[in-house]
This record gives sequence, C-alpha cells and structure tokens, in this order.
Amino acid sequence: MFTGGVLAVQPILQTRELTFTYEGQPTPALDGVTVDIYPGQKVALLGQNGAGKSTFFLQLNGVLKPDRGQLLLDGQLVTYGQKSLSNLRQQVGVVFQDPDDMLIAPTVLGEVSFGPMNLKLPKEEVSRRAHQALSFMQLEHYASRCPHYLSGGEKKRVSVADVLAMDARVLLLDEPTASLDPQNTVLLRTALDALHAAGKTLLLSTHDIDFAYQWADRVLVFSSGRLIADAPPRAVFGDSELLRLSGLVPPIWYAAAHTLQKAGLLPPGCWPTSSTELQASLLVPHPPTV
Ligand code: ADP
Repeated sequence: MFTGGVLAVQPILQTRELTFTYEGQPTPALDGVTVDIYPGQKVALLGQNGAGKSTFFLQLNGVLKPDRGQLLLDGQLVTYGQKSLSNLRQQVGVVFQDPDDMLIAPTVLGEVSFGPMNLKLPKEEVSRRAHQALSFMQLEHYASRCPHYLSGGEKKRVSVADVLAMDARVLLLDEPTASLDPQNTVLLRTALDALHAAGKTLLLSTHDIDFAYQWADRVLVFSSGRLIADAPPRAVFGDSELLRLSGLVPPIWYAAAHTLQKAGLLPPGCWPTSSTELQASLLVPHPPTV
C-alpha cells in the first residue's frame, strides 16, 4: 500500500484491522481499516456520506474505542486507559465539522486557553500557547469576542486554534471547507499550508474533490466503512472503476489536463493543478498579455 515514500520513518499513527459498529446498527461503521500515517503527510479522506470518515477520526483520537483491531501512536499500542487516552488526545486533535460542538467558553481567548489549562500547565505557558495559536489563525483581534457570535468561518478558525493550543502533532479536520465562503476557504488553506510547514500531520475529510486534488499528497477513499483506496491523488482520480464504486467524480483540473493531453495541448503525464502551472506547461504559444 502507498505510504508516501517515507518507509524508513516511524508512522505517527497506525490502525490495524480497526472495526467498529455503533450500538443498534446492523452493519459496521468501520470494517477492518488498516493504515499507517506518517509525520508531515497531508491526507484527504474521501467517500460518500456515511462512508465512515468521521467515525475513523473519532477512533484516531480515542473518542470511540474499536470493537476489534488496534490503534498505535508512535508505534505504541493505545490501551484506552486514562493515561494512554490523555496522551493520544494531546497528540491528535479533532476539529469537528460543526464548530458549535466544540466552543464552550465566553471569550475566544478563554476558549483557546481551556485545553492547555486542563493540562494543568503553568499560567504563563497557557497564555503563551493560547496567544501563539490565536496569532497562527489570525485571531488576535478576536481574543475578547464571544465565540458564539462569530461567523461560521471565524468559529472554524477558533476550533483549529483550540487544537493548536494543545500542541497536537496530528490535526484531524472533519469537512473543514464545508459552508465556508471563498475568503474563509483561502484563509483556511493558508493556515493549513502554514501548519504543514510547521511540521504538523494533517488529515482532512472533504467532499470538495478539487480542494483534495490540489492539496493532498495522499488520498484515502472510504466506502461502507471500508478503506477501498490509499494512493496519491492522481492515481485515485485516474481509476474510473474506483470512482464509480465510491461515487466520486474527477476534479476539474484532472479532467481538463486529461482533455488537453488528448488534444496534444499538454505533454503526456503533465498534471497542472493551478492556472500558473497550466500556463507554464501548455504546448501552444501563450496569448499575448494586454
Ligand atoms: P461519514 O463521516 O463518512 O459521513 P460516518 O462515520 O458519520 O460517515 O458514518 C458511518 C456510519 O455510521 C453511517 O452508516 C452512519 O449512519 C453511522 N453512524 C454515525 N454516527 C452514528 C451514531 N452516533 N449512532 C449510530 N450510527 C451512527
């Protein structure tokens, strides 16, 4: 299975045949999922509603315990004792799809300080982490605002800051771009790039195929609780049978490059993911700029 070409490195998270059925449900929400996640990877989780992506996230940070199978953090088995779980949750933070599920404090600063305070860190360290997280998410000016009266995009940024203040090494983002306007999508994208540059490991679930194609270096496709593909984006979107099975459509940049290659306007094997890359690769003279 594809692992991002970093086999010598210890995976940060590993699942082994992870299986879980919600109480009263006839079929498993996760069924035998085995995957290794390596430090610094940018992983997109794709699949139709109900495919098991959120359940997978809840397993990865120990909110849910598997019925069968194992979870390892830095090669160590997660035992679901208090110490093991609290270590896991410090290292692996979830940003839920609906920020209102997370936000509890009366001010943004209080909200972002809450996690480190619970770790019983010294006051100065709590303050340092909270301010650093706010600055990372460009939220310094919102410190005294009430989280509940922020816009959806701002709330989402506060949820990410919450997880950053815990100093989590892995961020799990459940549909982070859902219901964001273009400006907040750009802000989030910038934050994700900065987090990646800072060495964080990022997993995000999304229905935004174009975003996944441009952003991810690895794609996991879920279907009915099973992991049915684990490959670089181009391999996933070039597999028409896989797309049919998982109900996905090719990203616009992939489809355009495919058409242009067939028409002889792009070299074979050239897959631009932005207009700048496309301009640079086109096999026709560029139109003069006016
Ligand atoms: P996705 O995130 O890909 O939309 P989920 O992990 O939310 O998928 O859901 C996987 C399956 O588990 C679905 O069949 C869904 O109906 C079921 N499920 C999710 N949450 C619950 C729950 N709290 N109780 C019972 N069934 C659930």
